[in-house]
Amino acid sequence: MSLASKFGNRVRPISKESYNNNKQENRRAQRKSNLFKEGAVVFKPRPDTQEQVRMLPFLDHDYFVRPIKAHYEMGADKSSFPCPKTKGEPCDVCDYGSKMWAEGKQDFAKKLWSKDAAIVYIVDRAHEDHNPCILKLSFTNEKTLRERMENKKTHEIMPVNDLEIGHDLFFTLTDTGKKLPGNSNSLKELSGLDFDRDATPLGTEKQVGKWIDFMEENPILDQLNWLSNSEMLKIAGIDIDDDEDDDSEQSDDDDAPEREAEEAPTSTNEDEESEAEEDKAPPASSKKSEGLSQAERLAALRNRIGRK
Ligand SMILES: [Zn+2]
Repeated sequence: MSLASKFGNRVRPISKESYNNNKQENRRAQRKSNLFKEGAVVFKPRPDTQEQVRMLPFLDHDYFVRPIKAHYEMGADKSSFPCPKTKGEPCDVCDYGSKMWAEGKQDFAKKLWSKDAAIVYIVDRAHEDHNPCILKLSFTNEKTLRERMENKKTHEIMPVNDLEIGHDLFFTLTDTGKKLPGNSNSLKELSGLDFDRDATPLGTEKQVGKWIDFMEENPILDQLNWLSNSEMLKIAGIDIDDDEDDDSEQSDDDDAPEREAEEAPTSTNEDEESEAEEDKAPPASSKKSEGLSQAERLAALRNRIGRK
């Protein structure tokens, strides 16, 4: 008996069709978009375990995190990607959100708008031999840390990422028990965020040199998965041309966004999405020219923090 006749109904050797379907460039194109680019090393806290990390100082600014804006749960794949407004550049997805807001589709607009978050390179104290990795903090996390680092009486700021007298950061990844509709995984969030009372040096001279080299070679903003406006619109399922060509202002114009809005809100198949995004930020303001620019925000934060 030939192998094929004996086992042929149990296994499926490669076919030309699957070979073609699995060309790597096709797979990449189909890959769900994530906030971070492929290869970026993002810290994955162990569940229910107190983590001890040290936030590294930045090379190019003196705040303790890098504020970013990001779009979440975009399109059928529930993709995420950074918002170009992070870099002070225009964002067609945000603009489309504002257009929807102006048309009275507030809920859909809020889904489209980018949310605030922050990223920072950290050293995991449990693995100091590893390269620095990225810790993503929600808007709420950042607020908590700001409160923790300020002396309520003197308003002095704890120099948390100082090279010599910095403070390690503790937190625990906990399960909120909350689930978003249509999602079997519950949301997780960082809790117990607090700084070590003791001031400690960042590391040995050799370690610190290595970590700074790493950050120079791997600028943190370059670790985000930057897409063009047309790629973002495609992922978000927005067809601006169709929208603008349709001057009937009838059902067609309304349908596209509504259909999108009705899709199941989430799937937490990516760690980066597993935090309670809802808590991240107040909805973006309704104006396109919302708030301060990135540079203004950083300048304001620098002012508030001051320098020794
Ligand atoms: Zn945007």
